[in-house]
Amino acid sequence: MDGTLYKKLSLKCDGKRFFTVTLNTDGVRPYESSQGSLYPIWLCVNELVPEQRLRPENLILTGLWYGKMAPNMCSFFIPFIEEFRELTNDGVLCSKANENNKDERYFVYPLLCSLDSVAKPKVQRHKQFNGNSACGYCEHPNFEEINGETVRGYHTGKDYPLRTHHSPKSNMIAAHNLDLEGKLKKTTTSDDSVNGSLGLSPLLAFEESFDIVWGFPIDYMHNALEGVMPLLIRIWTDGQYSDKDFYLSPTCNRSINVF
Ligand SMILES: [Zn+2]
Repeated sequence: MDGTLYKKLSLKCDGKRFFTVTLNTDGVRPYESSQGSLYPIWLCVNELVPEQRLRPENLILTGLWYGKMAPNMCSFFIPFIEEFRELTNDGVLCSKANENNKDERYFVYPLLCSLDSVAKPKVQRHKQFNGNSACGYCEHPNFEEINGETVRGYHTGKDYPLRTHHSPKSNMIAAHNLDLEGKLKKTTTSDDSVNGSLGLSPLLAFEESFDIVWGFPIDYMHNALEGVMPLLIRIWTDGQYSDKDFYLSPTCNRSINVF
């Protein structure tokens, strides 16, 4: 996300020409009264300059699902992964692509999978944000014992180890084996998991280039913009803080609303 993953990949490629993509999928209703949802798999080429990168003509549509229910992400991703691995393993020959106007083989790697907080655990095969051990980045259990009671939430004040690529991978394998034995519930909100993992993420297929922890960026829109701003507005307008400098009284609110 800050270039670290890209630099790591560049070292691994050791002079091989390559480019990288960011994957995205999310459910959209094609029209208001629609009974079902569309799930596309989009690719965005990271090496394009920012002003070109997200232009519709430069996004690549590689998969499409339509149904009343969200797809099983493992099944949905398998055809895409099978084809994409050819680009990762064998590369693609680009004509007159180097500085000497000669043909050059480029290898293509998925670097990031940018998803919202609902789609992410489905692709990652991890507990949803409100489940136990649900944080994909650290081992916070998402509950705490307070006065003998279990209170759910990401309380601050205690550091938990960060997850590395290898710890979720072994958790995923253990969860997969439990699943094969029928000992794991298959929902993202049940308390059943192996340290948050529910099975093998389809993106493990790219583990030589894709970091299974940091390859999934934080859902900035829902976690930061939609989560923090309503909280701030509640605090700014809550009467229990009326003696604080940041408190916005109803009179003050009315004045703001004029604008
Ligand atoms: Zn965390």
